Amino acid sequence: VSSFEALPLAPKDPLFGLIAAYKADTDPRKVDLGVGAYRDDNAKPWILPVVRKAEERVNTDPALNHEYLPIAGLGTFTSASAKLMFGAENPAIRENRVTSVQTISGTGAVHLGGLFLAKFFPRPENQKLYFSNPTWANHGQIFGNVGLPTGTYPYWDPSTKGLNFTGLIEALETAPEGSIILLHACAHNPTGVDPTREQWMKIAETVAQKKHFPFFDCAYQGFASGDLENDAWAVRYFAEAGFEMCVAQSYAKNLGLYGQRAGCFHFVTHTEETKGRILSQLEILQRSEISNPPAYGAKVASTVLNDKALFREWEDNLRTMSGRIIEMRQRLYNKLVELGTPGGWTHITKQIGMFSFTGLTEAQVRRLKEEFHIYLTNNGRISMAGLNTRNVDYFAEAVDKVVR
Ligand code: PMP
Repeated sequence: VSSFEALPLAPKDPLFGLIAAYKADTDPRKVDLGVGAYRDDNAKPWILPVVRKAEERVNTDPALNHEYLPIAGLGTFTSASAKLMFGAENPAIRENRVTSVQTISGTGAVHLGGLFLAKFFPRPENQKLYFSNPTWANHGQIFGNVGLPTGTYPYWDPSTKGLNFTGLIEALETAPEGSIILLHACAHNPTGVDPTREQWMKIAETVAQKKHFPFFDCAYQGFASGDLENDAWAVRYFAEAGFEMCVAQSYAKNLGLYGQRAGCFHFVTHTEETKGRILSQLEILQRSEISNPPAYGAKVASTVLNDKALFREWEDNLRTMSGRIIEMRQRLYNKLVELGTPGGWTHITKQIGMFSFTGLTEAQVRRLKEEFHIYLTNNGRISMAGLNTRNVDYFAEAVDKVVR
Protein backbone atom coordinates (compact mmCIF):
# COMPACT_ATOMS: atom_id res chain seq x y z
CA VAL A 1 0.00 0.00 0.00
CA SER A 2 1.38 3.40 -0.99
CA SER A 3 1.04 6.52 1.11
CA PHE A 4 0.15 8.30 -2.13
CA GLU A 5 -2.85 6.23 -3.16
CA ALA A 6 -5.16 9.18 -2.89
CA LEU A 7 -2.90 11.35 -5.04
CA PRO A 8 -4.96 12.73 -7.91
CA LEU A 9 -3.70 11.77 -11.36
CA ALA A 10 -2.70 15.01 -13.08
CA PRO A 11 -3.57 15.51 -16.74
CA LYS A 12 -0.65 15.12 -19.17
CA ASP A 13 0.81 18.31 -20.62
CA PRO A 14 -1.32 18.78 -23.75
CA LEU A 15 1.53 20.08 -25.91
CA PHE A 16 3.95 17.28 -25.06
CA GLY A 17 1.07 14.80 -25.61
CA LEU A 18 0.59 16.27 -29.08
CA ILE A 19 4.30 15.80 -29.85
CA ALA A 20 4.08 12.14 -28.82
CA ALA A 21 0.96 11.58 -30.97
CA TYR A 22 2.71 13.12 -33.97
CA LYS A 23 5.78 10.91 -33.48
CA ALA A 24 3.62 7.79 -33.28
CA ASP A 25 1.73 8.64 -36.51
CA THR A 26 3.13 6.62 -39.45
CA ASP A 27 1.28 8.44 -42.24
CA PRO A 28 3.83 10.00 -44.63
CA ARG A 29 1.64 13.09 -45.07
CA LYS A 30 1.75 13.97 -41.37
CA VAL A 31 2.44 17.60 -40.46
CA ASP A 32 3.60 18.90 -37.07
CA LEU A 33 2.24 22.37 -36.36
CA GLY A 34 2.24 21.90 -32.60
CA VAL A 35 5.57 22.57 -30.99
CA GLY A 36 7.07 26.05 -31.08
CA ALA A 37 10.46 25.10 -32.44
CA TYR A 38 12.01 26.28 -35.68
CA ARG A 39 12.17 23.82 -38.56
CA ASP A 40 13.95 24.32 -41.87
CA ASP A 41 12.31 23.75 -45.24
CA ASN A 42 12.94 20.00 -44.81
CA ALA A 43 10.98 20.03 -41.52
CA LYS A 44 14.26 19.41 -39.65
CA PRO A 45 15.63 21.19 -36.56
CA TRP A 46 18.27 23.77 -37.50
CA ILE A 47 21.52 24.36 -35.69
CA LEU A 48 22.33 27.98 -36.50
CA PRO A 49 25.60 28.18 -38.47
CA VAL A 50 26.78 30.88 -36.05
CA VAL A 51 26.12 28.53 -33.13
CA ARG A 52 28.25 25.81 -34.78
CA LYS A 53 31.11 28.31 -35.01
CA ALA A 54 30.68 29.46 -31.42
CA GLU A 55 30.56 25.86 -30.21
CA GLU A 56 33.81 25.16 -32.03
CA ARG A 57 35.42 28.09 -30.20
CA VAL A 58 34.04 27.04 -26.83
CA ASN A 59 35.10 23.42 -27.28
CA THR A 60 38.65 24.20 -28.41
CA ASP A 61 39.30 26.90 -25.81
CA PRO A 62 42.36 25.68 -23.85
CA ALA A 63 40.85 27.26 -20.73
CA LEU A 64 37.62 25.21 -21.05
CA ASN A 65 36.51 23.31 -17.99
CA HIS A 66 33.25 22.12 -16.49
CA GLU A 67 33.45 23.94 -13.20
CA TYR A 68 30.37 25.52 -11.61
CA LEU A 69 29.33 28.97 -12.74
CA PRO A 70 28.69 31.62 -10.06
CA ILE A 71 25.15 31.63 -8.58
CA ALA A 72 24.08 34.52 -10.84
CA GLY A 73 25.62 32.84 -13.87
CA LEU A 74 28.26 33.70 -16.45
CA GLY A 75 29.05 37.42 -16.15
CA THR A 76 30.00 37.94 -19.81
CA PHE A 77 26.69 36.34 -20.78
CA THR A 78 24.41 38.23 -18.39
CA SER A 79 25.91 41.65 -19.08
CA ALA A 80 25.79 41.18 -22.86
CA SER A 81 22.23 39.88 -22.50
CA ALA A 82 21.15 43.01 -20.64
CA LYS A 83 22.63 45.22 -23.38
CA LEU A 84 20.92 43.14 -26.04
CA MET A 85 17.59 43.46 -24.27
CA PHE A 86 17.63 47.11 -23.28
CA GLY A 87 20.17 48.60 -25.70
CA ALA A 88 23.58 49.84 -24.53
CA GLU A 89 22.39 53.45 -24.51
CA ASN A 90 19.28 52.86 -22.43
CA PRO A 91 19.41 54.99 -19.23
CA ALA A 92 18.75 51.84 -17.18
CA ILE A 93 22.00 50.36 -18.53
CA ARG A 94 24.02 53.60 -18.47
CA GLU A 95 22.99 54.29 -14.88
CA ASN A 96 23.75 50.71 -13.84
CA ARG A 97 20.21 50.01 -12.64
CA VAL A 98 19.70 46.56 -14.19
CA THR A 99 20.44 43.44 -12.22
CA SER A 100 20.71 40.27 -14.30
CA VAL A 101 20.69 36.63 -13.29
CA GLN A 102 21.23 33.70 -15.63
CA THR A 103 18.28 31.30 -15.53
CA ILE A 104 17.00 28.00 -16.91
CA SER A 105 15.98 29.57 -20.21
CA GLY A 106 12.87 31.75 -20.40
CA THR A 107 10.77 29.43 -18.25
CA GLY A 108 13.29 29.69 -15.41
CA ALA A 109 13.35 33.47 -15.75
CA VAL A 110 9.55 33.71 -15.57
CA HIS A 111 9.63 31.40 -12.57
CA LEU A 112 12.42 33.24 -10.74
CA GLY A 113 10.61 36.53 -11.30
CA GLY A 114 7.34 35.02 -10.09
CA LEU A 115 8.99 33.56 -7.02
CA PHE A 116 10.68 36.85 -6.16
CA LEU A 117 7.47 38.86 -6.61
CA ALA A 118 5.41 36.34 -4.63
CA LYS A 119 7.84 36.78 -1.73
CA PHE A 120 8.79 40.42 -1.89
CA PHE A 121 6.39 42.51 -3.94
CA PRO A 122 4.77 44.93 -1.50
CA ARG A 123 1.07 44.65 -2.21
CA PRO A 124 -2.28 44.99 -0.55
CA GLU A 125 -4.49 41.95 -0.06
CA ASN A 126 -6.45 41.91 -3.29
CA GLN A 127 -3.57 42.31 -5.69
CA LYS A 128 -2.83 39.95 -8.53
CA LEU A 129 -0.61 39.30 -11.48
CA TYR A 130 -2.58 39.77 -14.70
CA PHE A 131 -1.73 38.02 -17.93
CA SER A 132 -3.39 38.10 -21.34
CA ASN A 133 -6.31 35.87 -22.25
CA PRO A 134 -5.08 33.72 -23.89
CA THR A 135 -1.42 33.38 -22.98
CA TRP A 136 1.40 30.84 -23.08
CA ALA A 137 -0.09 27.77 -21.38
CA ASN A 138 2.72 27.60 -18.81
CA HIS A 139 2.18 31.08 -17.35
CA GLY A 140 -0.83 30.12 -15.23
CA GLN A 141 0.90 27.09 -13.80
CA ILE A 142 4.22 28.85 -13.07
CA PHE A 143 2.63 31.75 -11.19
CA GLY A 144 0.16 29.41 -9.49
CA ASN A 145 2.99 27.22 -8.21
CA VAL A 146 4.78 30.15 -6.56
CA GLY A 147 1.54 31.28 -4.94
CA LEU A 148 0.92 34.49 -6.87
CA PRO A 149 -2.81 35.10 -7.33
CA THR A 150 -3.52 35.65 -11.04
CA GLY A 151 -6.16 37.27 -13.19
CA THR A 152 -6.45 37.91 -16.92
CA TYR A 153 -6.91 40.86 -19.24
CA PRO A 154 -8.69 40.56 -22.61
CA TYR A 155 -6.35 40.27 -25.59
CA TRP A 156 -7.71 38.32 -28.54
CA ASP A 157 -10.73 39.59 -30.42
CA PRO A 158 -12.28 36.66 -32.33
CA SER A 159 -14.32 38.97 -34.54
CA THR A 160 -11.26 40.78 -35.97
CA LYS A 161 -8.76 37.98 -35.27
CA GLY A 162 -6.66 40.81 -33.86
CA LEU A 163 -6.08 42.70 -30.62
CA ASN A 164 -8.93 43.64 -28.29
CA PHE A 165 -7.19 46.89 -27.42
CA THR A 166 -10.15 48.60 -25.76
CA GLY A 167 -10.74 45.57 -23.53
CA LEU A 168 -7.06 45.43 -22.64
CA ILE A 169 -6.89 49.09 -21.61
CA GLU A 170 -10.14 48.87 -19.65
CA ALA A 171 -8.82 45.88 -17.74
CA LEU A 172 -5.59 47.72 -16.89
CA GLU A 173 -7.66 50.67 -15.70
CA THR A 174 -9.92 48.59 -13.49
CA ALA A 175 -7.21 46.35 -12.00
CA PRO A 176 -6.33 47.35 -8.42
CA GLU A 177 -3.55 49.92 -8.26
CA GLY A 178 -0.10 48.35 -8.11
CA SER A 179 -0.96 45.11 -9.88
CA ILE A 180 1.67 43.12 -11.74
CA ILE A 181 1.04 43.14 -15.50
CA LEU A 182 2.65 40.39 -17.56
CA LEU A 183 3.29 41.48 -21.15
CA HIS A 184 4.69 39.57 -24.11
CA ALA A 185 7.54 41.68 -25.48
CA CYS A 186 6.91 40.58 -29.07
CA ALA A 187 5.42 37.73 -31.09
CA HIS A 188 2.64 37.06 -28.60
CA ASN A 189 2.14 33.37 -27.88
CA PRO A 190 -0.34 31.92 -28.87
CA THR A 191 -1.98 34.62 -30.98
CA GLY A 192 0.88 36.15 -33.01
CA VAL A 193 -0.84 39.51 -32.40
CA ASP A 194 1.27 42.38 -31.04
CA PRO A 195 0.21 45.92 -30.09
CA THR A 196 1.37 48.70 -32.43
CA ARG A 197 3.89 51.24 -31.10
CA GLU A 198 1.09 53.75 -30.49
CA GLN A 199 -0.82 51.09 -28.57
CA TRP A 200 2.29 50.23 -26.52
CA MET A 201 2.59 53.92 -25.59
CA LYS A 202 -0.99 53.93 -24.36
CA ILE A 203 -0.37 50.72 -22.42
CA ALA A 204 2.70 52.30 -20.79
CA GLU A 205 0.69 55.42 -19.93
CA THR A 206 -2.07 53.35 -18.30
CA VAL A 207 0.40 51.15 -16.42
CA ALA A 208 2.09 54.31 -15.11
CA GLN A 209 -1.18 55.97 -14.10
CA LYS A 210 -2.25 52.92 -12.14
CA LYS A 211 1.24 52.39 -10.65
CA HIS A 212 1.22 48.85 -12.01
CA PHE A 213 4.41 46.82 -12.23
CA PRO A 214 5.31 45.58 -15.73
CA PHE A 215 6.80 42.11 -16.19
CA PHE A 216 7.90 41.39 -19.78
CA ASP A 217 8.27 37.90 -21.14
CA CYS A 218 10.62 38.06 -24.12
CA ALA A 219 11.00 34.69 -25.81
CA TYR A 220 11.36 35.76 -29.44
CA GLN A 221 13.71 38.75 -29.73
CA GLY A 222 15.00 38.86 -33.32
CA PHE A 223 13.04 35.78 -34.24
CA ALA A 224 9.82 37.70 -34.86
CA SER A 225 10.79 40.44 -37.31
CA GLY A 226 14.40 39.39 -37.95
CA ASP A 227 15.53 42.60 -36.23
CA LEU A 228 16.76 42.42 -32.63
CA GLU A 229 16.13 46.10 -31.94
CA ASN A 230 12.68 46.17 -33.43
CA ASP A 231 11.57 43.17 -31.39
CA ALA A 232 12.91 44.75 -28.18
CA TRP A 233 11.19 48.07 -28.83
CA ALA A 234 8.44 47.75 -26.20
CA VAL A 235 10.84 46.63 -23.45
CA ARG A 236 13.25 49.46 -24.27
CA TYR A 237 10.44 52.00 -24.37
CA PHE A 238 9.22 50.99 -20.91
CA ALA A 239 12.75 51.00 -19.48
CA GLU A 240 13.42 54.46 -20.94
CA ALA A 241 10.12 55.69 -19.52
CA GLY A 242 11.57 54.95 -16.08
CA PHE A 243 9.51 52.00 -14.83
CA GLU A 244 10.75 49.57 -12.25
CA MET A 245 10.10 46.33 -14.07
CA CYS A 246 11.38 42.88 -14.86
CA VAL A 247 12.11 40.95 -18.02
CA ALA A 248 12.40 37.23 -18.73
CA GLN A 249 14.71 36.59 -21.69
CA SER A 250 15.10 33.33 -23.62
CA TYR A 251 17.69 32.19 -26.17
CA ALA A 252 15.71 29.05 -27.05
CA LYS A 253 14.29 30.33 -30.34
CA ASN A 254 16.59 33.14 -31.42
CA LEU A 255 19.79 31.10 -30.99
CA GLY A 256 18.07 27.73 -31.40
CA LEU A 257 19.47 26.67 -28.02
CA TYR A 258 16.18 25.10 -26.86
CA GLY A 259 17.51 22.19 -24.80
CA GLN A 260 20.58 24.04 -23.54
CA ARG A 261 18.31 26.24 -21.40
CA ALA A 262 20.11 29.57 -21.84
CA GLY A 263 18.19 32.53 -20.48
CA CYS A 264 18.31 35.56 -18.25
CA PHE A 265 16.17 37.38 -15.73
CA HIS A 266 16.56 41.17 -15.59
CA PHE A 267 15.29 43.50 -12.90
CA VAL A 268 15.30 47.24 -13.59
CA THR A 269 15.22 49.38 -10.47
CA HIS A 270 15.03 53.11 -9.86
CA THR A 271 18.28 53.23 -7.93
CA GLU A 272 21.58 51.39 -8.04
CA GLU A 273 21.30 50.87 -4.29
CA THR A 274 18.04 48.86 -4.54
CA LYS A 275 19.63 46.80 -7.28
CA GLY A 276 22.10 45.31 -4.80
CA ARG A 277 19.31 44.37 -2.41
CA ILE A 278 17.35 42.69 -5.17
CA LEU A 279 20.35 40.74 -6.43
CA SER A 280 21.10 39.50 -2.91
CA GLN A 281 17.60 37.99 -2.62
CA LEU A 282 17.55 36.61 -6.17
CA GLU A 283 20.79 34.80 -5.41
CA ILE A 284 19.26 33.11 -2.38
CA LEU A 285 16.26 31.97 -4.41
CA GLN A 286 18.52 30.75 -7.20
CA ARG A 287 20.84 28.91 -4.81
CA SER A 288 17.97 27.03 -3.20
CA GLU A 289 16.48 25.97 -6.53
CA ILE A 290 19.33 25.24 -8.95
CA SER A 291 22.43 26.37 -7.03
CA ASN A 292 23.94 27.69 -10.24
CA PRO A 293 22.82 27.70 -13.89
CA PRO A 294 24.00 25.41 -16.72
CA ALA A 295 27.22 26.60 -18.34
CA TYR A 296 27.42 25.30 -21.89
CA GLY A 297 24.59 27.21 -23.58
CA ALA A 298 25.60 30.40 -21.80
CA LYS A 299 29.19 30.04 -23.02
CA VAL A 300 28.00 29.53 -26.59
CA ALA A 301 25.59 32.47 -26.41
CA SER A 302 28.22 34.69 -24.78
CA THR A 303 30.67 33.88 -27.59
CA VAL A 304 28.14 35.08 -30.16
CA LEU A 305 27.05 38.14 -28.19
CA ASN A 306 30.57 39.38 -27.48
CA ASP A 307 32.15 38.98 -30.92
CA LYS A 308 31.29 41.56 -33.56
CA ALA A 309 31.67 39.25 -36.57
CA LEU A 310 29.70 36.41 -34.97
CA PHE A 311 27.02 38.84 -33.86
CA ARG A 312 26.56 40.05 -37.45
CA GLU A 313 26.37 36.47 -38.62
CA TRP A 314 23.72 35.80 -35.98
CA GLU A 315 21.65 38.68 -37.33
CA ASP A 316 21.89 37.02 -40.72
CA ASN A 317 20.74 33.68 -39.29
CA LEU A 318 17.82 35.46 -37.60
CA ARG A 319 16.77 36.92 -40.94
CA THR A 320 16.89 33.42 -42.45
CA MET A 321 14.52 32.03 -39.81
CA SER A 322 12.11 34.92 -39.62
CA GLY A 323 12.17 35.34 -43.40
CA ARG A 324 11.21 31.72 -44.00
CA ILE A 325 8.33 32.03 -41.56
CA ILE A 326 7.09 35.26 -43.11
CA GLU A 327 7.26 33.60 -46.52
CA MET A 328 5.18 30.66 -45.26
CA ARG A 329 2.56 33.08 -43.95
CA GLN A 330 2.32 34.61 -47.42
CA ARG A 331 2.15 31.23 -49.17
CA LEU A 332 -0.52 29.94 -46.83
CA TYR A 333 -2.56 33.09 -47.31
CA ASN A 334 -2.18 32.99 -51.10
CA LYS A 335 -3.26 29.36 -51.27
CA LEU A 336 -6.35 29.90 -49.10
CA VAL A 337 -7.35 32.84 -51.28
CA GLU A 338 -6.72 30.81 -54.42
CA LEU A 339 -8.95 28.02 -53.07
CA GLY A 340 -11.64 30.55 -52.17
CA THR A 341 -11.66 29.18 -48.62
CA PRO A 342 -14.60 30.72 -46.75
CA GLY A 343 -13.67 33.40 -44.18
CA GLY A 344 -11.09 36.20 -44.10
CA TRP A 345 -7.43 35.17 -43.86
CA THR A 346 -5.52 38.47 -43.74
CA HIS A 347 -4.71 37.78 -40.08
CA ILE A 348 -2.32 35.03 -41.23
CA THR A 349 0.04 37.58 -42.78
CA LYS A 350 -0.61 40.31 -40.19
CA GLN A 351 0.33 38.11 -37.25
CA ILE A 352 3.99 37.82 -36.33
CA GLY A 353 6.46 35.28 -34.98
CA MET A 354 6.36 31.57 -34.41
CA PHE A 355 2.60 31.23 -34.09
CA SER A 356 -0.62 32.03 -35.82
CA PHE A 357 -4.00 31.87 -34.18
CA THR A 358 -6.02 30.62 -37.12
CA GLY A 359 -9.49 30.88 -35.65
CA LEU A 360 -10.09 27.18 -36.40
CA THR A 361 -12.51 25.56 -33.94
CA GLU A 362 -11.75 22.57 -31.76
CA ALA A 363 -13.92 20.36 -33.98
CA GLN A 364 -12.02 21.52 -37.07
CA VAL A 365 -8.70 20.88 -35.32
CA ARG A 366 -9.89 17.34 -34.54
CA ARG A 367 -10.76 16.72 -38.19
CA LEU A 368 -7.36 18.03 -39.30
CA LYS A 369 -5.72 15.51 -37.03
CA GLU A 370 -7.98 12.52 -37.70
CA GLU A 371 -8.46 12.89 -41.45
CA PHE A 372 -5.33 14.73 -42.53
CA HIS A 373 -2.68 13.80 -39.92
CA ILE A 374 -2.08 17.47 -39.17
CA TYR A 375 -1.23 18.18 -35.54
CA LEU A 376 -1.97 21.50 -33.83
CA THR A 377 -3.20 22.60 -30.42
CA ASN A 378 -6.96 22.56 -29.75
CA ASN A 379 -7.13 26.35 -29.60
CA GLY A 380 -6.37 26.55 -33.32
CA ARG A 381 -2.81 27.75 -32.91
CA ILE A 382 -0.35 26.68 -35.58
CA SER A 383 3.41 26.84 -35.38
CA MET A 384 4.33 28.53 -38.66
CA ALA A 385 7.77 26.89 -38.53
CA GLY A 386 6.11 23.52 -39.18
CA LEU A 387 5.07 24.68 -42.65
CA ASN A 388 7.42 24.37 -45.61
CA THR A 389 7.32 24.54 -49.39
CA ARG A 390 6.24 20.89 -49.57
CA ASN A 391 3.40 20.81 -47.04
CA VAL A 392 1.93 24.32 -47.11
CA ASP A 393 -0.46 23.57 -50.00
CA TYR A 394 -1.51 20.29 -48.37
CA PHE A 395 -2.25 22.17 -45.15
CA ALA A 396 -4.22 24.89 -46.95
CA GLU A 397 -6.28 22.29 -48.83
CA ALA A 398 -7.04 20.48 -45.56
CA VAL A 399 -8.10 23.76 -43.91
CA ASP A 400 -10.27 24.49 -46.92
CA LYS A 401 -12.04 21.15 -46.50
CA VAL A 402 -12.63 21.44 -42.75
CA VAL A 403 -14.01 24.96 -42.79
CA ARG A 404 -16.53 24.33 -45.60
N1 PMP B 1 7.44 32.55 -22.68
C1 PMP B 1 6.79 32.38 -23.82
C2 PMP B 1 5.69 33.30 -24.17
C3 PMP B 1 7.16 31.34 -24.68
O1 PMP B 1 6.49 31.18 -25.82
C4 PMP B 1 8.21 30.49 -24.32
C5 PMP B 1 8.64 29.39 -25.23
N2 PMP B 1 7.64 28.53 -25.63
C6 PMP B 1 8.87 30.73 -23.11
C7 PMP B 1 8.46 31.77 -22.32
C8 PMP B 1 10.03 29.98 -22.56
O2 PMP B 1 10.65 29.02 -23.26
P1 PMP B 1 12.05 28.47 -22.81
O3 PMP B 1 11.96 28.09 -21.38
O4 PMP B 1 12.29 27.30 -23.70
O5 PMP B 1 13.04 29.57 -23.03
